[in-house]
Amino acid sequence: MKTIDDINFSGKRALIRVDFNVPLNDRFEITDDTRIKATLPTIKKILSDGGSVVLMSHLGRPSNGPEEKFSLKHLVPHLSDLLNVDVQFAGDCIGETAVFDSEELKPGEVLLLENLRFYKEETAGDEEFAEKLAKHGDIYINDAFGTAHRAHASTAVIAKFFPNDKAFGYVMANEIINVNKVMQEGKKPLLAVMGGAKVSSKITIIKQLLDKVDTIIIGGGMSYTFAKAQGGSVGNSMVEEDKLDLALEILAEAKEKGVEFLIPVDSVNADNFANDANKATSKVDAIEDGWMGLDIGPETEKMYAEAIKKSATILWNGPMGVFEMDSFAHGTKAIADAIVEATENGAFSLVGGGDSVAAVKKYKLENSVSYVSTGGGAMLEYLEGKELPGIKAILN
Ligand code: AMP
Repeated sequence: MKTIDDINFSGKRALIRVDFNVPLNDRFEITDDTRIKATLPTIKKILSDGGSVVLMSHLGRPSNGPEEKFSLKHLVPHLSDLLNVDVQFAGDCIGETAVFDSEELKPGEVLLLENLRFYKEETAGDEEFAEKLAKHGDIYINDAFGTAHRAHASTAVIAKFFPNDKAFGYVMANEIINVNKVMQEGKKPLLAVMGGAKVSSKITIIKQLLDKVDTIIIGGGMSYTFAKAQGGSVGNSMVEEDKLDLALEILAEAKEKGVEFLIPVDSVNADNFANDANKATSKVDAIEDGWMGLDIGPETEKMYAEAIKKSATILWNGPMGVFEMDSFAHGTKAIADAIVEATENGAFSLVGGGDSVAAVKKYKLENSVSYVSTGGGAMLEYLEGKELPGIKAILN
């Protein structure tokens, strides 16, 4: 795997695909700069080698050409502060003026291009557009893990114009290395915590995991599909009626493969989908009509925490309940705490994919687990075992 550590950028212009798709408020101020901060080590390494940097990214989902609220120019002041460099801005990502600006860059200088998605050719993966973008650099670096599952012009197609001059930035390299620590080299016992809303959105990952892990723990909304499939009464809980057979198939496959497959034994139920609803705890398969399960119960928390603490490698994807509501966040927090404790005792823990990342951040535990992935959809597809176009384009 070629990374920027294998290249000396002295006198070179690096064209970096970054993920600067950050949230902005009504005054176009950045409300969460995590993604920008994540790319700083990559940019700084190139500048300190004596190279110059051209940054390209998308921001939001512009539907029809340029729009003020999606302009990357709003990021320039903050990026300049973070880098301690006066970042230049090109009002277009392709064209003579923008290319002139990038050709004029001197070592240590940084140019940010306007939003790639102001051109529909970007998401269409248009080759001519990719070729125009390629004029901005001597070396192409992909550091946008968040879009690595997309075969867009700037994330994948462009790589062919740099057959020998392309590499991963640190964000991409870290994501790949850390997922591989679980999926390829995971030390046993290996445990996966799978939560979230629906079986249907996690089924491919669960199937993939059955060949790798010793234990799978199920939580969140999908627990009730498993409970109902086994003949339980789940009241008004979230159930995917058309996935009941699939749930039984997964249970059978787990048994056949010798994977310990744990579903909740008890559930915290509510008479309403609201933080201030009345609450009651019951066995997971004995939820009364008019009540819905919104969190794992105390016995399940204990059982899951014990399994987690016995594991050497832990993957966590998806919350154990509706953790956005404090009344139903206890199970998710208990699992987070158990993973932190296991990590303190030497386990490798990776939190990846959407809402479990949000949960870890909510409890300020980002630095207490081994690795938190930055890419939601990309991480899910990677865990599903799919080849990501953004990774393939650099490797080939
Ligand atoms: P996902 O994006 O599939 O990981 O699902 C995350 C969402 O699932 C979160 O917004 C949770 O609130 C929701 N969720 C978790 N547990 C439940 C549950 N028991 N009933 C309904 N929604 C749930």
